[in-house]
Amino acid sequence: MTSYKDYTIATLGSHSALQILKGAKDEGFRTIAVCEKGRSEPYTSYKVADEIIEIDKFSDFFTIEEELKKRNAILIPHGSFVSYIGSEKVKDISMMHYGTRGILQWESDRMKSKEWLVDSGLNVPKIFDTPEEIDRPAIVKFHGAKGGMGYFVANTPDEFYDRIREYPEEKDYVIQEYIVGVPVYTHYFYSPINDELEIMSFDKRYESNADSIGRISAKDQLDANIRTSYTIVGNMPIVVRESMLPDFFAMGRRVVEKSRGLEGVGPAGLFGPFCLEAIVDPNLKLFVFEISARIVAGTNPYVDGSPYTWLRYDVPMSTGRRVARELKEAVEQDRLKEVLG
Ligand code: AMP
Repeated sequence: MTSYKDYTIATLGSHSALQILKGAKDEGFRTIAVCEKGRSEPYTSYKVADEIIEIDKFSDFFTIEEELKKRNAILIPHGSFVSYIGSEKVKDISMMHYGTRGILQWESDRMKSKEWLVDSGLNVPKIFDTPEEIDRPAIVKFHGAKGGMGYFVANTPDEFYDRIREYPEEKDYVIQEYIVGVPVYTHYFYSPINDELEIMSFDKRYESNADSIGRISAKDQLDANIRTSYTIVGNMPIVVRESMLPDFFAMGRRVVEKSRGLEGVGPAGLFGPFCLEAIVDPNLKLFVFEISARIVAGTNPYVDGSPYTWLRYDVPMSTGRRVARELKEAVEQDRLKEVLG
């Protein structure tokens, strides 16, 4: 029988690595941060990594995979992992890694993820198949856009064609109804080990310049010809009206249930941390515009736990630590295979 002490937790030094590694250490694991050369200071300064392995660029990850295997490391994929390695290449990982095999292809394809959300009975913003259909505010999102950079809002087909000229190289985009409301991103954790769905926390994003435009008058906005952009800079914690919690739980549960049977996804379906990104309108109607099937950076304000995890745990429980605890319990119950991709 192996002990969890025989394993090391490894992740790429970016995104949510600080809390993943800190959480792993709190649960008693050894940790490795794989960093780009010259960018390891956070991981040494905050003392979350027992070992740092440096590579030139994250896309060189596969050159050190064997080294990680020798250390009996379990890799925790996160958002930067997907964007630097590519969701297709994630399939080529041969070392132990946490999470559902095949699920990251669903989250990174906007059409596939929309299908999954709709089949789960969630309300999603309308998608306009052609620019001619734009009859209300619409947000135009480029595929693979990093952190909301370069999105634009158009109210009419003419406005769309006027703006799209600024992006001659972009051919792959979706045109989605723009919902006027507040963003609420729900951080879930589903454990197949104890068959429980938890809501760990909520956040909203701090986006430039969407979150700064209200600091100047409408006249100044027009005079300066400011375009709204959604470049993510950070995350802010929120708590929601308690009466909305049952709906958030129900949404998460339906997404987990529907994930079993998605093409290319293992029979266990989605497990571990995931996030539903929604806009809530003034009638408290929720529009889910995205799903992330792995830990999100929005959990970072909660290294020390959230108001919700504090209700359930008697220790500060970040999402990173929850992942490590799951792995520990899986090892102790000889069920590790069930939580590896
Ligand atoms: P995304 O890259 O899809 O996560 O979107 C980046 C940001 O754009 C979000 O954090 C929201 O602030 C905003 N956004 C995206 N989709 C919508 C929508 N349908 N309605 C209103 N705001 C949106």
